[in-house]
Amino acid sequence: MLFSPYPKVKREELFDREKELKEIEEAVKRGERLLLLLGPRRIGKSSILNVALSELPYPSVKVDVRKVYSEYSSVNRYIIGKMLLSALRGRKRLFEEARMFLEKVKGVRISGVNIEINPKGFSLAELLEVLNEYGSEKGRIIIAFDEAQYLRFGGATRYDGIIAYAIDNLENLTFILTGSEVGLLYDFLKFEDPKAPLFGRYHHDIFIQRFSSDMSLEFLMAGFREAGVEVERRELEKAVEELDGIPGWLALYGYIRVTKKLNHEDCMLEVIKEASSIVNKELSRLFSYSPRYRFILKAIALGYSRWRDIKDYLTLKVGPINDANFSKLLDNLVKHGYVERRDGRYVITDPVLRKVLSL
Ligand code: ADP
Ligand code: MG
Repeated sequence: MLFSPYPKVKREELFDREKELKEIEEAVKRGERLLLLLGPRRIGKSSILNVALSELPYPSVKVDVRKVYSEYSSVNRYIIGKMLLSALRGRKRLFEEARMFLEKVKGVRISGVNIEINPKGFSLAELLEVLNEYGSEKGRIIIAFDEAQYLRFGGATRYDGIIAYAIDNLENLTFILTGSEVGLLYDFLKFEDPKAPLFGRYHHDIFIQRFSSDMSLEFLMAGFREAGVEVERRELEKAVEELDGIPGWLALYGYIRVTKKLNHEDCMLEVIKEASSIVNKELSRLFSYSPRYRFILKAIALGYSRWRDIKDYLTLKVGPINDANFSKLLDNLVKHGYVERRDGRYVITDPVLRKVLSL
């Protein structure tokens, strides 16, 4: 269903994105080893990734790093190793085929459907080497890390080093990393730092864009048609104007309207209510580091866009803060993808986020 409020898996549920899927397919078939899918939350990265993986003619394994981090509060190499193996196990035929390779990895024990990793002697690089061997039989193996910026919490496990090793030596592996927090992902991968393992490595970055107004309207029309619900075009145009081409919000609008049978105005109120709970959950960790983040976001949501004006607002609300500390908080919001810097001004470009944060 086009409006389903979960990341899409099948091509027929995904509206458009032909160009992006083609670009991924061609890059992988060319043998590129590192692809990045970048863009703000709810733009459709996970959906595009899932559909691409389901259509490419190579085996793939995917780990949702954000989910792993929130469940285990860690992404050390045993957990990620286990997740990679579990992702394989979830795909029966693949697992059976790969099994004889996987059994070679030190510290890995497979009995029936059970996989155990004994921390002693287990090396993620060795697991990748073995997958590379399997990949030479299959043409290639794709290893996807969704929300890969969370790999920075690897502790003693340096994923940038492991990925660099794989890119240099394991020719049958392609890594696809997605990231909503684009600044954090680049900070973690450090392509431009001469002392960092990934320095100077080739990476193919694909920035996922919003839908244009026309495409947004087409998406809504196609979704309502599919659901057999008649909606006035004028209302859809209003929805497009208010949600501004962000597929996640458009899908949520459609989903709520179809399932709750609401009119446009009531549906919009529901979208904002739902969005508010989603966004506050996403921001809760950041707010727990510093409650000042909330006020900075509110200032920007209210339309303050200059460094000085935002700082004045913050000072008025919660008291003084020095320039360096304030800049750090502001930069962090940019790196997390909540705020954008345009021509020296700070803005929240997602209209729903702006609305939710200004309340
Ligand atoms: P991201 O990973 O960038 O945060 P998701 O892939 O999770 O985005 O998509 C957010 C929401 O928007 C999901 O509910 C998904 O179903 C919907 N969505 C995103 N892109 C599309 C699309 N091209 N067609 C239909 N629904 C989409
Ligand atoms: Mg995602």
